[in-house]
Amino acid sequence: MKNLIFLFIIGATFAACERKTSASSTENNPFPQGKWIDLTYTIDSTTLYWPNNATGFEHIVDFQGITPKGFYYTSYKMCTPEHGGTHIDAPIHFAEGKWTVDEIPLSQTTGEGVVIDVSQKALQNRDYQITSEDILNWEKEHGKIPTDAIVFFKTGYGKFYPNRKEYFGTDLKGEAAIPQLHFPGIAPEAAQWIVDHRKIKAFGLDVASMDYGQSTDFKTHQIMLGHQIPGFENVAHLDQLPTKGFYVVALPMKIGKGSGAPLRLAAFVKS
Ligand SMILES: [Zn+2]
Repeated sequence: MKNLIFLFIIGATFAACERKTSASSTENNPFPQGKWIDLTYTIDSTTLYWPNNATGFEHIVDFQGITPKGFYYTSYKMCTPEHGGTHIDAPIHFAEGKWTVDEIPLSQTTGEGVVIDVSQKALQNRDYQITSEDILNWEKEHGKIPTDAIVFFKTGYGKFYPNRKEYFGTDLKGEAAIPQLHFPGIAPEAAQWIVDHRKIKAFGLDVASMDYGQSTDFKTHQIMLGHQIPGFENVAHLDQLPTKGFYVVALPMKIGKGSGAPLRLAAFVKS
């Protein structure tokens, strides 16, 4: 009996401590609870690059295995075009004198995000160009795009990645592939409307380019990047995001004078 009372006291003390710990850890935790959504494709031999890029991602073994001193060691070198897989277009890519990738402030690539879903139209038409009307229709339902938002456009083409033929509309490579590119993008008219009427920090989409595949003048690139608005291309897993109410963190590799860079892109969704 004595033992039982003792166990009861110990048990009650533990329970009290546990309550105290969980209550204080919630009170002291400055960060909200939630989950991270990874919006980044792994960079490897399957990574899609623009069809006329001479090379893709090269990952070359420098050493892999047991060293003469008996411990395991592995190290590679890598070579990659800037624009492939999930990546950022720095403003300098199409706008002389604008930010290079190392010059883009962190405040520009972090912030509140929204998703504008145009997949119903885009999946029916490989040459679909997102219009200002699509944006206004979205706003009618979800409210005005918040000032300084990071805007994602969901075309639905992410589900094809990394199948080259389905994603690009052709599995040709080299210059011959360029006229055969068929995938949706943002109409220059919509880009102009955004810079004229809304203030956004950055934007992204789940295709290989912000201009549609058939573009030859890359006008949307010129407009958006010309206004110091970086773009994220080949964004992964947009189908896992809510329409709004999430926080975006986009961290490009800080390449000096880079016109773009591999990007680690993620979103935090509060629970
Ligand atoms: Zn790019």
